[in-house]
Amino acid sequence: MRLFDSHVHLDLIGGEDILRMAWGGVEAAMVPSPHLLKGLFEPESLFELWDKTLDYIVKYVASMGIEVYAGIAVPFYGIAAEKWEVCLKKMPEYLKEDRVVCVGEIGLDVANDHEKWLMREQIAIAKDAGLPLIVHGPTPREPQVVDVTDEIIKVLKDEKFPLDKVVLDHTGKNTLQKRLRSGCVTGLSICYDKLTAEEAAEIVEQNPAERNNIIIGSELGYGGAGHLSVVKAAWAMKHDGMPVSEIERVTWENPRRLFGLAVA
Ligand SMILES: [Zn+2]
Repeated sequence: MRLFDSHVHLDLIGGEDILRMAWGGVEAAMVPSPHLLKGLFEPESLFELWDKTLDYIVKYVASMGIEVYAGIAVPFYGIAAEKWEVCLKKMPEYLKEDRVVCVGEIGLDVANDHEKWLMREQIAIAKDAGLPLIVHGPTPREPQVVDVTDEIIKVLKDEKFPLDKVVLDHTGKNTLQKRLRSGCVTGLSICYDKLTAEEAAEIVEQNPAERNNIIIGSELGYGGAGHLSVVKAAWAMKHDGMPVSEIERVTWENPRRLFGLAVA
């Protein structure tokens, strides 16, 4: 079965943990731009991290059998807000790199004016570059998650971004229906604070009409032990009797189409 991990911060994990994903059958992965930066307030720090992903992580992870594709974005936590514009100006240059196939993760966490401004700016940049978006939202147990999910969809619609080119990531059960009905792609996040592999499998099984608009990722990088998240979800779908061709729509074909990947 062909597996693509559609959201994994491989720049934050290493060695045998990445190998474990490869042993489980993950062949390709999307590494979103670093966010929640700790103590890195200068734009140069962000550019270093972008370079690290594109120059080093791509090759290091390929040496273990996983093809890496990347997202570029300016994080709303980390870089000092008055320096965001310096970062935004630099983005288009990085978006031209071969392995950069989306803008993300952008998004809202508490939906204050600052976050919304940064989100709108980056939607415009993605539009100019003709690239899809990965959109971050609050985790399912954060009290603001329902309202902020509505805000995210509203901003995307206000900006007239093509919704079928947007991944609404960090899905939990409490916002699932909203996301499936939004016209965006639903990113099922199989992670300690979002969905279990069995829950993700059940969502794919119970929503055949939406199956072209669902992708799955491990969200690994900020904790947890989700190296086999995508593998387990595929296993659960197979065990429940779903044909491999249907499983691969979600684990391979959808992300390949959405991000326009060259991988065969
Ligand atoms: Zn992330």
